Amino acid sequence: MTTRNFIKRMPKIDLHCHLDGSLPPETAKRILADMGETWTREDVEKAMGVPEDCRSLAAYLACFDLPIRCLQTAGTLEACAHDMAVRAAAENTVYLEARFAPSTQGVLGLGVREAIEAVDRGLKKAGEETGIETGIIVCAMRHLPEEVNLAMFRTAREMLGCGVCACDIAGDEASYPMSLYRNLFEEARRLGLPFTVHAGECGSRENIYEAIDLGAARIGHGTAAAGDRALQALAAERHICFEDCPTSNVQTSILPDYGANPVREFRQAGIPVAVSTDNRTVSGTDLTQEFEKLQAYGLLTEDDMAGIYFDSADAAFGGDDLKERLYQKGRAFFGGRPGGRK
Ligand SMILES: [Zn+2]
Repeated sequence: MTTRNFIKRMPKIDLHCHLDGSLPPETAKRILADMGETWTREDVEKAMGVPEDCRSLAAYLACFDLPIRCLQTAGTLEACAHDMAVRAAAENTVYLEARFAPSTQGVLGLGVREAIEAVDRGLKKAGEETGIETGIIVCAMRHLPEEVNLAMFRTAREMLGCGVCACDIAGDEASYPMSLYRNLFEEARRLGLPFTVHAGECGSRENIYEAIDLGAARIGHGTAAAGDRALQALAAERHICFEDCPTSNVQTSILPDYGANPVREFRQAGIPVAVSTDNRTVSGTDLTQEFEKLQAYGLLTEDDMAGIYFDSADAAFGGDDLKERLYQKGRAFFGGRPGGRK
């Protein structure tokens, strides 16, 4: 089997995938038509996809205007979740954690619970059709008032295990340091809501330290830990998985090119790494392409890809039954975990 075929056929796990940035263009076109707007698929792709030469977070974030406008009702959230998961299943993604910010969905009066339930319906339907397993990570937003984020976490906690699997914080990391959110994540911990945190996406190691100190089970991106042996040793010792999003990191200029991706360095330091898509439509990617890129730059062998699969299964925010099913799928394709561990 060629490596290209291997990557295509291997089971994959996507732990960091934003719903709005992964709104499939055909779905957006349909939603816009229902809103009385005529868009071609090309227009949608142009509005949502980052330009080839995108090298800034601001240009990257501008691509979210259209999906945010599209995803304001239960019906559109459900359609987006369903269509995105069906497409992910078509490239052998066997497990996907979709994340979104239910509090920003309220512009047209949709409540947090209704928004989460709509996404859950779409994901479950995709699961029935394709076999893909899913979970929902609810994102607090850095720019929202603390009480809005706290109320959202409390509602999400009531739905833990019934669609919701964890929480996160997203938004402008450069303007809002992690230290502002101690109270929020102490509450998440008190509630027993597991969490990952977008940290180290804008060069701040301090935010990664802070997130680990607060009890984050995983780190979104974590790119700033490159070159920091002490931080890497801490993450490895606590088995904190780093969700590496290669294309997104290049497009937002955190890394100059794919060759600078720290996946090898992190894995050698003993950190579990999950290769993820971040935003399938905005970044114009899928998991197959993310692995292909890293492999083309000589950063991953087939054994590494197997290791990443099993590390991602370990780090999934789901119960032991889910993990056992993921291990089984991994063993069936990769023939076992590199290094002989379970
Ligand atoms: Zn993200």
